[in-house]
Amino acid sequence: MSGFKGLAVPGPTNMPFEVRQAMDVALEDHRAPDFPEFTLPLFADLKKAFMLEKGQVFVFPSSGTGGWESAVANLLSPGDKVLASIFGQFSYLWVDMCQRFGLDVDAIDCEWGTGAPVELYEQKLAADKDHKIKAVLVTQNETATGVTSDVKAVRQVLDSLGHPALLFVDGVSSICSIEFRQEEWGVDVAVSGSQKGFMLPTGLGIVGVSQKALDQRPRNGFPKCFFDFDDMIKTNADGYFPYTPATTLLRGLRASLDMIFDEGLENVWARHHRLAEGCRRAVEAWGLTVCAKEPKWNSDTVSAIVVPEGYNANDVIQTAFRKYDLSLGAGLSKVAGKVYRIGHLGYMNELMVMQSLAGAELAMRDVGIPFQSGAGVGAAVEYYAATEQAPALAAE
Ligand SMILES: *Cc1c(COP(=O)(O)O)cnc(C)c1O
Repeated sequence: MSGFKGLAVPGPTNMPFEVRQAMDVALEDHRAPDFPEFTLPLFADLKKAFMLEKGQVFVFPSSGTGGWESAVANLLSPGDKVLASIFGQFSYLWVDMCQRFGLDVDAIDCEWGTGAPVELYEQKLAADKDHKIKAVLVTQNETATGVTSDVKAVRQVLDSLGHPALLFVDGVSSICSIEFRQEEWGVDVAVSGSQKGFMLPTGLGIVGVSQKALDQRPRNGFPKCFFDFDDMIKTNADGYFPYTPATTLLRGLRASLDMIFDEGLENVWARHHRLAEGCRRAVEAWGLTVCAKEPKWNSDTVSAIVVPEGYNANDVIQTAFRKYDLSLGAGLSKVAGKVYRIGHLGYMNELMVMQSLAGAELAMRDVGIPFQSGAGVGAAVEYYAATEQAPALAAE
């Protein structure tokens, strides 16, 4: 088909030309004497991206799932109890991983479309007088349902109870897109990956770990090799890695961080909020709803759009792909066939969101979902025309 393919899934995301260009380089010697001149500032800037002051950000040649695995393998011990919640496919998979590691997982089952149940966390933690719970898991942005949870509130619960459990956050689809402040929020582990907010190809698991978590990591925990924090700490100190790093992706990461800092992290968050709000206005104008049950849970990186009863969201996705070269995100697991997703994160602007909305309108029209043609796109036009592009700067 002629023309650009539309990529409107919530990861992998659209890759900026600057990032592609930065990666179009010859392979390099990762043990070269000057390699640390490149890596040491990169490590420092990753801490800025996570808003982590003490502690360290590790970069593994893996996906986000590897980041989860590194956190569990390094910071917990066999049989440890962890508190988690399931409200979508990604929060479920994280629990599944903990169970495969043989952890004792208390996973609170929540309605999909809701977020981390702060009150239930509080009850469970308050009842845990012996401090058996070693870690509390929160998926900041549940990509399957388009739900953002209140990470800061979970930290406040831990602090007000004086509970020493570590706070683990899945930030794969939120870090560098939605507000995230690792040091300030007392997050002990924050997991991300390269192919979402970082606007890179898949292939890096990026993990921020607090100094507190590093200091208390168990000596006789799980066996680990590839994901061993100790090996990373030793070699990263001098700008090197325990094995061959994905140097090409690291060059891309340099370019992507430069773009993010040029725009300003807070402006990046504000841009995501505004772009997402335009998408939500469109959904409302179609007479449809997003999967998030309450506005406080709306995600600024992905919207899961519920199709009316009697329609199959997969037909919308298939049609968008086959007829219009647009990839919309599928509904996963419990919401398969019920929702399609529009990713609006990373390298993204108003017109790209409206391309996705227009593609969704065409596909919904084709499958017979009733709505007024142009209503969604029109609502987005109205919203974008009436709002400022960088409200964060204006507000300061
Ligand atoms: C994408 C995603 C993951 C999985 O990351 P991979 O890079 O695919 O391993 C985990 N959690 C969330 C919230 C995600 O969006």
